Amino acid sequence: MSDVILSHDLTLSGAKCAFDADVCEIATIAIANGYIRDISYAASPEPSFMEIDLSGYLVMPGLINAHDHLDFALFPRLGRPPYRNYIEWGEDIHRCFPEVIARYRSVPKDLSVWWGGVKNLLCGVTTVSHHNPLRPAMLREDFPVRVLRGHGWGHSLALGGDLPAAHVATPQGGVFIVHACEGIDAIARGELGGFDTLNLLNKDTALVHGLAIDEEGVTLVNKRSAALIICPSSNKFLFQRLPDITILRNIPNLTLGNDSPLTAQGDLLDEIRFIIHHCGVEAKIAYEMVTLAPAKVLRLKNCEGTITVGGTADLVVIRDTRVNIIERMPELSIENIELVLIGGHVQLVSEDLLERIPEGEKKDLEPLWVDGIVRWLRVKVEKLVYDTELILGKGEVRIGNRSVRAA
Ligand SMILES: [Zn+2]
Repeated sequence: MSDVILSHDLTLSGAKCAFDADVCEIATIAIANGYIRDISYAASPEPSFMEIDLSGYLVMPGLINAHDHLDFALFPRLGRPPYRNYIEWGEDIHRCFPEVIARYRSVPKDLSVWWGGVKNLLCGVTTVSHHNPLRPAMLREDFPVRVLRGHGWGHSLALGGDLPAAHVATPQGGVFIVHACEGIDAIARGELGGFDTLNLLNKDTALVHGLAIDEEGVTLVNKRSAALIICPSSNKFLFQRLPDITILRNIPNLTLGNDSPLTAQGDLLDEIRFIIHHCGVEAKIAYEMVTLAPAKVLRLKNCEGTITVGGTADLVVIRDTRVNIIERMPELSIENIELVLIGGHVQLVSEDLLERIPEGEKKDLEPLWVDGIVRWLRVKVEKLVYDTELILGKGEVRIGNRSVRAA
């Protein structure tokens, strides 16, 4: 950490900072050009007109959502569970809910994915891995959150087409992400061997779900140094079964994804609470599964998931309740997310913190009403809501299990 005084774009002062799971100290974070340039413990930071006084608040790293389908952001949960595997589910919803599917598919994808970005932003996600082709909207500078790129992906063994070709097409140094073992029957159990036979199981592969992976499977995953992204609330909904964490925790590269609202309970914070309260995952492990672990698995290059000098200024602010970040994890939900910075810019701010934001950073923020709370977002909220309500109807826009409308 440097004590050289630089000209800073933005300074965050007075907040407790969660430098890692166990270390939380009051510090001043100086940001320039989107990166953290300095972290200082001095009592009197350099005065700056672009300063946010965060006394009484706690700064943590932006969260990383290792699995989502942004284009399904507006869908409700769909299914008549329990199913035995994902193929059964897919066939059943197309047979039983064609009108619902047609209704949400009538929303242009570039509109739907924007809501997917908003859903992630609201819960403090700053980087999301989207499973499906990247849309032009996601690559825009003004998209609400960062979307993983430079990776490869396939749907699954049964529905993924030519997976070896998709694997080969993965950019050098990128991760190959594919749904695997999503179910509880022999088909789901057999998929791990299927991937291995195709030489798709290796250090560059991240499997999504892995519900049917048993102890023998964990040994194979580890032998091949593959990673696993679990989405437990989705599994519980579809198969009425939870991933066995006592087995899966032996995979070193274990991370958490949110999956889409078609099957998941809510957003990434809902998913974190779910794995803590229903799967027996310790809060510290859960925290690492949305910070350090996905940064490594997804090959992020800018110290995402940490608060580090030289790292990207992707930060989330919650109220300081005088307990450490780990003790907060079992209770956090979108109501607690007061401020989100991505690349040093305010992307979301609560009404309570709005007055502390420098005028220059307030420009272009618009209020969104979400189930009774208001968040100011760097998103053209009014137009987004208007365009979506034109298709779905007034008051009919929901992301995850939450109603949204212009505030
Ligand atoms: Zn998925």
